[in-house]
Amino acid sequence: MGENENIECWLTDMDGVLVHENQAIPGAAELINRWVDTSKRFLVLTNNSIYTPRDLAARLHASGLDVPEENLWTSALATAEFLKDQLKGSSTPGRAFVIGEAGLTTALHEAGMILTDTNPDYVVLGETRTYSFGTITKAIRLILDGARFIATNPDVTGPSAEGPIPATGAIAALITAATDREPYIVGKPNPMMFRSAMNKIDAHSETTGMIGDRMDTDIIAGIEAGLTTVLVLTGITQREDIARYSFRPTQVIDSVADLIKTV
Ligand SMILES: [Mg+2]
Repeated sequence: MGENENIECWLTDMDGVLVHENQAIPGAAELINRWVDTSKRFLVLTNNSIYTPRDLAARLHASGLDVPEENLWTSALATAEFLKDQLKGSSTPGRAFVIGEAGLTTALHEAGMILTDTNPDYVVLGETRTYSFGTITKAIRLILDGARFIATNPDVTGPSAEGPIPATGAIAALITAATDREPYIVGKPNPMMFRSAMNKIDAHSETTGMIGDRMDTDIIAGIEAGLTTVLVLTGITQREDIARYSFRPTQVIDSVADLIKTV
């Protein structure tokens, strides 16, 4: 028993909370194991749309974390859910031109969409390491022809061992510059990402906690979704940064190791 005794479901960010550069953060493995052992409903969230849940589970396993694949929620899955919902009542399957990797194409396929470069309803942009001028040109022309522009996440850079690399938000900005159309962006900080995650585990906002390392994404989106918010200091935010923001998380803790006794 403790301050989190009323929390029935947990959502947690991945990078900076559970892992840091492919290394499990101390306490993360114990927290995940505890949730699994006590049949707690939880999801690990990531804006990264490259990997399928199965690939991601394998990568986390290599980092020392055993997260079942059904406990992973990516911006690719959230985007597929969003499009499925948008297409409800449509008599024909939705058509999408996709720039992205298996994480996104698999999610859209499983949501019943047709992936095509002919007359798509949507251009869906996700994370990829192989952006080509030809593909981006195609996307721009399809959007100018009326396809709706969707992006999995707003992040402009992502981490790599050699330094930052351009990410979905940066490519979206390029396409916006060429088309004068803004994408609808599904991933964090859009609370849509949390709402679709909560639907998946049948969670309710008043009894759900969100753990994150970023005030400007995890915590603000958690507050807007009506969740209990827990900021950890193992990622991007330092304790002295908190005062710069006009909102406060429900709790601030050094790391997820501090949560184990209260969840
Ligand atoms: Mg993070």
